[in-house]
Amino acid sequence: MKIAFDCTQCGRCCHDLRLTLSVAEARVWASRGHRVDVLTEGWPWPDNGDPDDPVMQWRRVTSFDARVGDVPFRINLRLVARHEGACPHLLPDMRCGNYAARPRICRIYPLESRPFEAMVPERRLCPPEAWGDGLPVLERDGLAANEDTAAVLEAHRAAMVADVAVKARLPSVLGFFDVAMAGEGLAVCEMAPGALIEALEAAEAGLGDGSQDWSIVTNRETTRAMLTDLDCPVRLVAAGAGFMASFADVVAG
Ligand code: SF4
Ligand code: SF4
Repeated sequence: MKIAFDCTQCGRCCHDLRLTLSVAEARVWASRGHRVDVLTEGWPWPDNGDPDDPVMQWRRVTSFDARVGDVPFRINLRLVARHEGACPHLLPDMRCGNYAARPRICRIYPLESRPFEAMVPERRLCPPEAWGDGLPVLERDGLAANEDTAAVLEAHRAAMVADVAVKARLPSVLGFFDVAMAGEGLAVCEMAPGALIEALEAAEAGLGDGSQDWSIVTNRETTRAMLTDLDCPVRLVAAGAGFMASFADVVAG
């Protein structure tokens, strides 16, 4: 099974960004004056998950332990460059003005960054003419065909695992303990680039305690009621600056 692709330089993937960055990449992005947000989602996690389930195992190695009330959770914390409109590095002719230092996630696209998920061309932003026979082979049997790209993909995944220890300390440095239920959305902590750099440096220096209690934020009344029954700290919020919702707000009628 081959997928053939050639970038048309349409620039669509460089607009309305949600770039998942490693800790090192986030520091570089923020040092150029661009905002990086901290986003969190979590799963109730009573055990270590099925060792034969690649989705569960990827979640486990890219998340850290936490408690929401008395319920054990795993929390995935992402450092995300979010920009409405064009990327601050995008040039008027749709070339990247940061090409040599662009984040790994930009180098990987349109390949799938998660190891358990197949790449589906229809879900990518690339136009139809970017795909088709006769173009260079992008992926063969689910693996990146180009050795250099495969190495970047592996490095991105390795960083998502290696960064967990720093990410586990970052919330207490920031004083941010909101988390969304995975699948419902993402809790958002926005800050100035300089504040993020300081917080990352503190977490990398070993400051911060990963054992704080967390609260769920949700925009769904059913989730709020269910978690309240479990004595989990939970707040009903509207989609907006502090909560990226997967669904429209649902409150009690
Ligand atoms: S850094 Fe470059 S490749 Fe990445 S989104 Fe910005 S302009 Fe596009
Ligand atoms: S959306 Fe696809 S074709 Fe367009 S610039 Fe990005 S990678 Fe290239």
